[in-house]
This record gives sequence, structure tokens and C-alpha cells, in this order.
Amino acid sequence: MADIYEWLEVADDSRHRLGQPKRIHQASLSVRMDDGSLRVFPAWRVQYDDTRGPTKGGIRFHPDVTEDEVATLSFWMTLKCAAVDLPFGGAKGGICVDPKTLSRMELERLSRSYIRAFHDVIGPERDIPAPDVNTNAIIMGWMVDEYAQIERRHVPGVITGKPLGLGGSIGREQATGAGALQVLDMWVKRQHQEPGDLRVAIQGFGNAGQHFARLAHDAGYNIVALSDSQGAIYSEEGLDPAPILRHKNRTRELKGMVYCDDSVCDAAQTQPLSGDDLLELDVDVLVLAALENQITDANADRVRAGAIVEIANGPVSTGGDRVLQDRNIPVIPDIIANAGGVIVSHLEWVQNRMGDYWSGEAVEKQLRRRLEREANACFNLAEEKAIPLRTAAYIQGVGRIVDAMAQQGTQG
Ligand code: GLU
Repeated sequence: MADIYEWLEVADDSRHRLGQPKRIHQASLSVRMDDGSLRVFPAWRVQYDDTRGPTKGGIRFHPDVTEDEVATLSFWMTLKCAAVDLPFGGAKGGICVDPKTLSRMELERLSRSYIRAFHDVIGPERDIPAPDVNTNAIIMGWMVDEYAQIERRHVPGVITGKPLGLGGSIGREQATGAGALQVLDMWVKRQHQEPGDLRVAIQGFGNAGQHFARLAHDAGYNIVALSDSQGAIYSEEGLDPAPILRHKNRTRELKGMVYCDDSVCDAAQTQPLSGDDLLELDVDVLVLAALENQITDANADRVRAGAIVEIANGPVSTGGDRVLQDRNIPVIPDIIANAGGVIVSHLEWVQNRMGDYWSGEAVEKQLRRRLEREANACFNLAEEKAIPLRTAAYIQGVGRIVDAMAQQGTQG
């Protein structure tokens, strides 16, 4: 943040307010397992700043979740919502759990118990959760139902990323991947390059990574490597994400792809690779769609990609960023590259509040329009001031937040 303050005049009051989360809520969730035993899971909801509107951000289920991590992610949500000019503040939630060890019924009980624990602090005008790492529309469906049962009324606007039948929006599922591709396309055009000439490696094959891979392949980019948490695959000829996704859904991992029996996928051309090696491939674009801190000062000097796109939140550490900057490797930052998800979450929330629903084309058009305007503003600012894209995106976001803080008055 320090380099932002070199470019942006920020009153001391606002610096103090932006220096820590406004509210941290913690709970221990007791959940009955299928075998009758009881397990207790630590859980958080951190509401970082609500100056520009109700706080907004996903809930992640992961064994490494900590209060610190959730707080940092909630800060990035605050910047992201402001950087793309949504009328939201920022929040994040998390449960420290490995969801792969739970049955479907256990997962449902855990999800519902999260809502019972945090019911009083969320709401369509207060704080609006959504999916994040290892959570999806099915889980959001259980959560919105639990909220409705406690309230004894329908409140679809309390959560976004819901299934379509429960007030979800067409286009939300692929929004993060689609938005990231749009931002990459805009950047590629500015560099006078063509998608067909670009070799791309993608780390992460969760919701955002899968949709990005599929859409980027369809747009003509040459996807040469893909990874999930178990390992990576590589093909100089290029990979088609569609059969790979079918294989992953069947076997739950990419690794065995060399044995893929799908005719569309040429097994002979596909080599296994370690997840770490993927990060160091000689490609034009490295897309980071897994977790935070993947490129750090420990490996940033070995990155050979021409540019990096952050679809995950915080995949490049501050130290890693410094090394990449020194090496002139541009990074398209998370708060712009992955903002498509929360932009369509906002559209879902608007539809819920209107009680009327839009076509896929209408949603896509609004997503494209907002991202085009905000990503271009960020690219222009970076060019004009000769600063990294991340600094420009932060200036764009922080500028709007501190303006709103000033408009609120002294709060004293
Ligand atoms: N979890 C996503 C993010 O990090 C989406 C948040 C939302 O839609 O509220 O941006």
C-alpha cells in the first residue's frame, strides 16, 4: 500500500480506517458427522470496510484458512469492489475444513451451521456472501435456504452465486473466467498481439480456471499446460480443456490424463509435469487460478512467462511482485482480472431486489461494459504514470474509497 500513497493524497483519518478490518466475527461450528461423532470447525466472517455499501465477498472452505488470511482477502474484496465501481464494501468468510473429507450431508450441515452462526451480521443491505475456493452454487443454495428458514421469509439478495432455481443469475458461474479472458484480450490487443500466437499455462482447474481455459481455448489461445492441486499436464501441440474437464470429473484429477481414453485428447502428446514446474514454463502468459502466494521471492526469478494474469486472489506475494517488476514481467492484477465474478454477483443482487430476471445476453452485456470501462481506466493510468498495473488498480480503488470516506464526514 505504501507506494499508493506516493501517488494519491490520502487523509490520515482514511489511512487509519483502511489500516485494519472494521469487524471480525469468529465462531466454532459444531457439526454432527454421519457416524454420530461431533466435529468442531473454526469459522470467520471479516467485514473490512463498508463505506461504499454493504460488504461483499465469498466464503472459502479450506484446511489452511486462518483469521489473518480471511482478513487479507476481505481487504482485497474492498479494493476490488471499489476498483470496478460497485456500490459495495468488502468482506470474506472462511471455514477451516478439508471439504473433500466430508460426505454431502456433512457438508450441508456445515454450510447451514455457518449461516446460523453469522445470521445476525449478514443481510442484503449489510453483508452479502458468495462462493469462493471449494464452495459453489449448491452450497450457496443450502445457505440461502437456511437464512430464509431463520427469517421465515424469502431473502434471495442475502447471498449471490445461488442456483438459478433459487434466484441465481444466468452467467454467474462462468463470470470470473469470462471476465478474466476479457481483461486479457484487452491487454493483448494493446500489446498488438494475437491470441493465436500466444502460448498459455494455467495453474488451477477449479471453477474460475476451468471456465477461463475453455473460453480462452475457444478464443484461439494455445493452452499448453494445465494444473490442479495434484499435478500438471503439458502438451506442446496445445490442450483442449473440454475433454480434460470430462476426465477430471470422472477421476477427480488431471494427472492421469496421459491415459485419457477420450478420442479428442491425444494421449501420446500429453506429458505429466509437476505443479511447480508449470510456474516456470517458457510461455507467453502464465495464468494463476489456484491460491495465494504461488509466486514469491523464492521462485519469481525463475518465472519465464512474458506476462502473468492473476485469477486467484493474491497469487503473487509482495516480494514476488517486486522481483517481477524488476524483471519487467507485467502482472494483470487480481482485483481487475478476477472482478467478473463479483460484477455478476452485483447483477444477481440487483435482479433479486427487483424480483425480475435477465437474459444471458443482458447479463453479459453489462459485465462487458463495466469491465471494459474499469480495466481500460486502469491500463490508461498505468501507462500515463508509468506505474505497474497493480499500483494503478489500487489507486483506482483506494481513490474511490477515500472520496466516500471524506463525504461521510469525520464520523467523530
Ligand atoms: N469469491 C469471489 C471473489 O473473490 C466472488 C465474490 C463475490 O461474488 O462476492 O471475487
